[in-house]
Amino acid sequence: MPKTPKRLSTVQATYLTEILKMTQAGRQVTTGVLAERFKVRPPTVVGVMRELESKGLLKRVGWGRVDLTDQGRGVASDLIHVHRVIETYFANVIGIDPERSCRLARSIETAIRRDEAAMFCKLLNYPDKCVHGEEVVHAWCRDQD
Ligand SMILES: [Zn+2]
Ligand SMILES: [Zn+2]
Repeated sequence: MPKTPKRLSTVQATYLTEILKMTQAGRQVTTGVLAERFKVRPPTVVGVMRELESKGLLKRVGWGRVDLTDQGRGVASDLIHVHRVIETYFANVIGIDPERSCRLARSIETAIRRDEAAMFCKLLNYPDKCVHGEEVVHAWCRDQD
């Protein structure tokens, strides 16, 4: 199991996972694209990008363009896994409505350790889909059994 990365802020985590989803969808990610996506001013985006860059999770790949490093991709994939498992737990086990489950998951996803996420996966019997119907990839958590 790769080690748990240093704690990220919720904003950093949101940027990281969004950049991963955008690049996987074949989109070029720039400061402008992110500013539009998050409805913030470009300098705000640049600030977050610098933080992610200093953590070794993001790199610049051209004029205004950014991409995740291998480490950044790994961390983003983990965050998406934790997010989807936690929101599924809130919705399916506790019965909280899906939209609120998603918001709650977002607010705590950076605080959940990978081994703890795997405990949720086991409890839920490794669900295939999250509350939004997106795929939940259990890349390594079954190995924890
Ligand atoms: Zn969600
Ligand atoms: Zn899992």
